Amino acid sequence: MSRILALLKANTTSFPSDLIDAINSAGGSPVQIWSSDSGFYGVVAEGDASVQTAMSGHPAVACATSDSVPSAQSLDVDPGATELAGAWNTYLSSDYQTAVTGFYNSSMNIDAMLPPGGCNQNSSDAGDGGSGPLVASNDPTGSTNGAVDTSADPSGGAAQLGTPASGGAAGLATATVVHKERRAIVGTVGIAVGFVGGPAGSTAELTPDNNGTLSLAMIHAMNVYYDIAPKAAHLVFEVNVRRATLTLDPTTVPVPADPKNPAAADWEAAEAPWRDAALKAWGQTAGMPGVDGFISSASFSTPPDYAYAALLTNYPVAWESYTSDSRKVVYQLTGVLNDWKLAGAHFVFAHETGHTSGAPDEYAASHCSITDKSGFSNSANTNCENGNAASVDCLMRNNTKSLCPATPGHFGWNDSNGDGILDPFDSTYAT
Ligand SMILES: [Zn+2]
Repeated sequence: MSRILALLKANTTSFPSDLIDAINSAGGSPVQIWSSDSGFYGVVAEGDASVQTAMSGHPAVACATSDSVPSAQSLDVDPGATELAGAWNTYLSSDYQTAVTGFYNSSMNIDAMLPPGGCNQNSSDAGDGGSGPLVASNDPTGSTNGAVDTSADPSGGAAQLGTPASGGAAGLATATVVHKERRAIVGTVGIAVGFVGGPAGSTAELTPDNNGTLSLAMIHAMNVYYDIAPKAAHLVFEVNVRRATLTLDPTTVPVPADPKNPAAADWEAAEAPWRDAALKAWGQTAGMPGVDGFISSASFSTPPDYAYAALLTNYPVAWESYTSDSRKVVYQLTGVLNDWKLAGAHFVFAHETGHTSGAPDEYAASHCSITDKSGFSNSANTNCENGNAASVDCLMRNNTKSLCPATPGHFGWNDSNGDGILDPFDSTYAT
């Protein structure tokens, strides 16, 4: 079994749900679905050679391979697919994989790379579900038969992909998430991604190289989640990418007086100018209402069980990467690369994604406590490093591709009654 990338043909505005059927029929599993305002452009699946054959043979697929893509430039695909292929090729390269192995094996002194107080801002104690338009769908049943839903978009501003002609994109979810009152990283996870670049030649510019690096970080982070999640989580990621290139001068963005110890007001002060300009470009209002509109107006193949926004930028920020309100990830590429290097860039995205479920930081600088309760299970942060000799390195603490003991509960990956159904899918589980 390996990961297989299928690049979809240009202008695939209706998701070919029978591609998912073909993957499933051949014994594979979908892992990632990528789209932009122009259409769906990429699918990553897990499977063997027969899955690759099934994907290659689908009429919407321009190319499907578990190896590098040699000639994406010459394929009839959208620019997003070409960018994705470049990131995929880097992901598979021996240089990158060697660097990643070194990253996971290194014993890093990361205290200077972490914000005092943690990178998890304004989260509530328990999984923060139930309030706000956390998913793009207003379908309470979690049915996989719904068409792309536009009714939750308060602004009506952002472009929508074409609505599937019939029946919608079926076949992704094989189980229904019944506990949406709290956020769990299960089922179909929708990421409303915004690339926010500045003027060409400025420090805020997002170059094609930068965009490829951001795609690489996301491909890899989502693969990490797929690797460590229980199969019963039925995890599939959908990434919908929108882009904004702003005229805003990055030197006008206020940055913290002490960059190693930002004050409470610094986070919003640095983020608001570029975030709100980008939200406006996408037809949204300012602030968190606009972020929620950005999430709910994202176009996915099927209504996600769970969704969050990821704003990827080179504009100044108070800290290089953080999560706010359990549904907005901010990721500043220059800062991440300076501290974590290319090999660690995916890890930062994966760590912040963990916060979107309400999972807490576990490193000492976050001021965590083993008695703090949070996440889907509203359970204690038992691996918090402070005053805890038993604390181990893991996804929410330092740089290890493993789960901390408490994290499955925080993510909603426990099966409390042992019936083979994870708690978020289990109607007998009480949150
Ligand atoms: Zn964190």
